[in-house]
Amino acid sequence: CGIVGIVGTEPVAGRLVEALKRLEYRGYDSAGVATIRDGRLERRRAEGKLVNLEARLAEQPLEGTIGIAHTRWATHGAPTEGNAHPHFTEGVAVVHNGIIENFSEIKDELIADGATFATQTDTEVIAQLLAKLRREGYGRRDAMLAMLQRVSGAYALAVMFEDDPSTIMVARNGPPLAIGHGQGEMFLGSDAIALAPFTSEITYLVDGDWAVVGRNGVHIFDLEGNPVERRRQVSSAAA
Ligand code: GLU
Repeated sequence: CGIVGIVGTEPVAGRLVEALKRLEYRGYDSAGVATIRDGRLERRRAEGKLVNLEARLAEQPLEGTIGIAHTRWATHGAPTEGNAHPHFTEGVAVVHNGIIENFSEIKDELIADGATFATQTDTEVIAQLLAKLRREGYGRRDAMLAMLQRVSGAYALAVMFEDDPSTIMVARNGPPLAIGHGQGEMFLGSDAIALAPFTSEITYLVDGDWAVVGRNGVHIFDLEGNPVERRRQVSSAAA
């Protein structure tokens, strides 16, 4: 029920959890965080409150200067650690808020094609579909666009590809998504309140937007793949 991400220069795990805490008011049943370190995706997840995720991170710290994190309000699949986001499939990591309405149709197709699903969530079809498109030779951006053209429903989502440790891709259709501009670092989150400790310079995506977020800025596109411009504003959310 909340999403955050950082493309940074300093370690991100602690800051991601700090940002998730600012989204606790939205409600959740489990949480997770993923980073890329030395070209490898890694994650920690936990049922229940964020203190459980913090305890997990204290036992097994997560290094890395790029990451995504999630608080989940389960809609499809029980609120277990195994169903908690981020979902990983073959070098693709996904966090998602909302519901993919046509997930079972896509899931059946992917299973017929040989995919093995690890969770009961609707969200996993996003990771599985992206992984399949990459296997077929799609580049990262083309895979993102093709995936978005295939799924229907409500989403705010963030994606990391293991083979690109400097970029997070995001998309919005329904639930809000804010991009935060920092100094050589970029942020994303479900609202400006989550990002207030880091920046007050915000670009809001509108429905049907998707974006490529790098350390030095964001490129936003529509669902035909055309670039679009969105206004950058100063948020009044207090840190
Ligand atoms: N539908 C997804 C799930 O059940 C995302 C739920 C959410 O918005 O947190 O895993």
